[in-house]
Amino acid sequence: MTSPSVSPPTKLDPRPALVLFSGGQDSTCCLAWALERHAQVETVGFDYGQRHRIELRQREVVRTQLAQHFAHWAPRLGPDHVLDLGVLGRISESALTQDRAIALQANGLPNTFVPGRNLVFLTLAAALGYRRSIRILIGGMCETDFSGYPDCRDATIQAQQAALALGLNEELQILTPLMWRDKAQIWALTQELGGAALVDLVVEHTHTCYLGQRGQRHDWGYGCGSCPACELRAGGWQRWNAAAPGASPGAVPA
Ligand code: ZN
Repeated sequence: MTSPSVSPPTKLDPRPALVLFSGGQDSTCCLAWALERHAQVETVGFDYGQRHRIELRQREVVRTQLAQHFAHWAPRLGPDHVLDLGVLGRISESALTQDRAIALQANGLPNTFVPGRNLVFLTLAAALGYRRSIRILIGGMCETDFSGYPDCRDATIQAQQAALALGLNEELQILTPLMWRDKAQIWALTQELGGAALVDLVVEHTHTCYLGQRGQRHDWGYGCGSCPACELRAGGWQRWNAAAPGASPGAVPA
């Protein structure tokens, strides 16, 4: 899967797309990327008992804000779907779904790893898309700046695309526009897609912190500031600002 160009297409793709949308920074960037390219975009989210449930609440806020501040995207933003995946939380025993300290496991993966999560998400998204005649799935998987989750790797996604296309007997595509971008490049892409208004929207309304904290406002948004997700988000923000001084806007959209 190659990393698609940042440049907006000259012509909208008439085929509908389904974005795996969690309400976090990466999937919001993916949603904007999809809205820039596809005539119709639907979103799907998963409730698997995650500790950072606030992410689920922020999904609707982000969708509403995108439609309010980007008039050309609003008519392309189609229905949202939330699927109940409580069973995934019950069998995974990870620090994302249980009240445990976040730490590295013996296998080198953080205990926030929910085994097979993206495989399940993509399978269900494909099933939902099948029913809604959507054959393009878009996800924020990234193996450049990630916590080592093996189901974020490009090879995993390519294998699953092949399996789903065979299993559904459809020309199914899984697009991962963030796969080869680090967190600083994801902030840069956000600005290229929607300028300062989109960067502000991501800072103010998306949620990334594993602990679900939104009490403290940093330059890069809300969060505890020390969990692996906050560290990645903050580090990317700092590297982006260092590379392009003055790039980050200060104003928050009204
Ligand atoms: Zn955090």
